[in-house]
Amino acid sequence: MIRIEDTLKLLKEHQPDADEMLVRRAYIFSARVHQGQLRKSGEPYLIHPVEVSYIVASLGLDAPSVAAALLHDTVEDTVTTIEEIEETFGKDVAFMVSGLTKIAKINFKSAEEAQAENFRRLLLAMVQDLRVILVKLADRLHNMRTMQYMPPEKQQRISRETLDIYAPLANRLGIAWIKTELEDLCFKYLYPEEYHNLAAQIAKTRAERESFIARVVDQVKGALEKQGLTAEVTGRPKHLWSIYQKMRSHHSLNNLYDIHAFRIIVDSPEKCYAALGYVHSLWKPIPGRFKDYIATPKENGYQSLHTSVIGPEHERIELQIRTQQMHDVACYGVAAHWNYKEAQYGRNSSPIYQNLQNSIMEVVKGGITGKDVADDLFKNQVFVFTPQGDVMQGLPEGATVLDFAYTIHTDLGHECTGARIDGVQVPIRTKLETGQYVEILRTPGSKPKADWLKFVVTNRAKAKIRAYLRQEDNARSEQLGIEKLDRELKRYGLNLNKMRKTGQLDECAKKGKFKSPHELFLAIGYEKVRLETILDLFLPEEVKREQLEAAQQEKESELERLKKVDLAKPAASTGGRTGVIVDGLEGIACHFPRCCSPVHGDPIVGFVSAGQCVTIHRLDCPQVANYDNGRKVDVRWEEDGQVHQSQVRVRVLGKDAPGLLASMSQALYDAGVNISGVSCRTTPERDSINIFTLLITDIEQLTQAMKLLKRIDGISTVERLNN
Ligand code: MN
Repeated sequence: MIRIEDTLKLLKEHQPDADEMLVRRAYIFSARVHQGQLRKSGEPYLIHPVEVSYIVASLGLDAPSVAAALLHDTVEDTVTTIEEIEETFGKDVAFMVSGLTKIAKINFKSAEEAQAENFRRLLLAMVQDLRVILVKLADRLHNMRTMQYMPPEKQQRISRETLDIYAPLANRLGIAWIKTELEDLCFKYLYPEEYHNLAAQIAKTRAERESFIARVVDQVKGALEKQGLTAEVTGRPKHLWSIYQKMRSHHSLNNLYDIHAFRIIVDSPEKCYAALGYVHSLWKPIPGRFKDYIATPKENGYQSLHTSVIGPEHERIELQIRTQQMHDVACYGVAAHWNYKEAQYGRNSSPIYQNLQNSIMEVVKGGITGKDVADDLFKNQVFVFTPQGDVMQGLPEGATVLDFAYTIHTDLGHECTGARIDGVQVPIRTKLETGQYVEILRTPGSKPKADWLKFVVTNRAKAKIRAYLRQEDNARSEQLGIEKLDRELKRYGLNLNKMRKTGQLDECAKKGKFKSPHELFLAIGYEKVRLETILDLFLPEEVKREQLEAAQQEKESELERLKKVDLAKPAASTGGRTGVIVDGLEGIACHFPRCCSPVHGDPIVGFVSAGQCVTIHRLDCPQVANYDNGRKVDVRWEEDGQVHQSQVRVRVLGKDAPGLLASMSQALYDAGVNISGVSCRTTPERDSINIFTLLITDIEQLTQAMKLLKRIDGISTVERLNN
């Protein structure tokens, strides 16, 4: 069992001036908060973080990373808060623990490819600090090592995720040993039968293979020493997963010697090439298998010479030739390049680091080819969590709370009234950022508004809002259509509801070429058809015929009556001649209503009123709008007819002065106008308000009278009243 002292020893080996106290404090803190918790194995929980811290230290990571490893499950699994971690251990540690907590909270409901793809993207988006990924890898490695205590379903799920995501990540980060160990553990849980068969097969030939390895090592070592080259030579079988992969591509395991790799470690790059030369002069190299990763390192910084030869016993063997320093890089990967002075929150300008970021990209982009495409894909996406830790598909940059609500569920979008982001309440239009926890707030019964369309960015949200608004509008119009039609039908003694039940409604709709009554109501509601056209569909033939006849009759009798009245008895009020010519109805009686009192010369219009006469209005009289245009007749003033006198009311306003009334009377007399009534009043402010009722024969007389009134001293306004 690993103890904290083991971790500290490793840490000190890699970094003699590391902050040991920080790690000790993290250990004590973790022990305290995890106290009483047990792992599935029944062991105290604390064993897990300590094991993880040991792996992290073995990668050569710094003291804050080791502390974060010790604390990585405290926020997720205990009452500890991230604020507490920050207060106690500082920002650097808290940043990593926070990242690890977020990754831990990610839920995957299914192991579908799409989810894994999203998970890859999410990892990239969230991990601004590579150390977080390294601690996470260590965490995953220890979990995989202790998977036997987990239920089978969980073993499968976690192994699949590890094989798809974490093993490739370890590879890209250059940490070969984590990659191979993870792969073999996944192999064991995902393909148990194949794993055990292969393991048994290899175990059976173990003694034989071990002596083979020893013989080859001796031969290589001896050959190199003969040339004056001191080298460390080791051999080992390749890991099971890679053998299994090889078997699958060759369909069988026909040569057990083909599964070994030998390593030659020398003390300078020049000697690597020298060693390669001797090896190639001894044994025949297999064409196409030589790779020079010293001249062209892998993106993760890995350097070595690789070759395959037909070896001393005519077996294929693989050889890796490297220096000790190159070997360290192969073991620690990214960690070997870490510049701790420079690295703050994962920022590091070294080219290797930049390369590593690109490497992670490759893991993350998965099946997508073309780096630009991938870059684009991630740069413009936002990943957020539900309060349960579910990850939604990436949202486009600029996506708002409302977009997120619609992504989860349409109804949630419709009733969304805000959100809590990382615990803080915000309005619906708030833009989201990757890594946030978003809890949508809904108010049942609240409805989408048209102005939401101005700020949502996802097509889904836009479509859902539009659909809702259209539906609402339709419902309103349909109701309006139903009411209008119902009202009309009632006039003919028809009942819309009854017609609906008897199926008559459907028939009528079909007759009018509407897909359904619903469409018909909409057409009425939106005023796309005339109500008469619709009524035509509904009214029975006999009703229509009757209606037509009745209308015809009414018109005829009206005309009849007009003619009779006209001829028999001219209207008494005007004594026959009125000064107005009515086209087509010569000599008919005319009536001048009080509403506008037309004066000879005013623009006028006439309407045939109920039987007796034609009512004459001024063209601008407000009453005109109330008449049926069908009753309108053309009228004009008779050139020489001055028979009719109109009563016109005129209002005169001014400042009161002695003799004002006398002056006004004089002006009207001068204009030749008779006064039939007058009302005069003076306000306490000495404003004089006078209304004259005048008998006017024509418009010129009225104009003259008003002009003279206007000339009087103190008079400010003279106006003709409408009635
Ligand atoms: Mn853990």
